[in-house]
Amino acid sequence: MDESGGRPLYSCRNCRNPVALHAYLESKKFKAKSGEAYMFRQAMNVVVGAKEVRQLMTGDYAIAKIFCRTCGDEMGWTYLTAFDARQKYKEGKYILEKAKILKEY
Ligand SMILES: [Zn+2]
Repeated sequence: MDESGGRPLYSCRNCRNPVALHAYLESKKFKAKSGEAYMFRQAMNVVVGAKEVRQLMTGDYAIAKIFCRTCGDEMGWTYLTAFDARQKYKEGKYILEKAKILKEY
């Protein structure tokens, strides 16, 4: 991938570290504690936390929180395993909370 041509992108609202490319945005229909959240095929410059098993509205998942690599702010989570077959498409995807990101052009 051409690293200079990746705009628009989303950056950490706190420190402007780029965390996801708009090209990898898959869905805006997710919900987090803070409100709306977006699902991306790929994220960058984030640190993945410890695996946790969570009961969410759509089923049980193994997830890991993701944090900004620069400022350490919690940005959302990634799906490691979906235990419901219908939710398998979420595996390996990243959820970023809208309240934590800024769109940059
Ligand atoms: Zn940050």
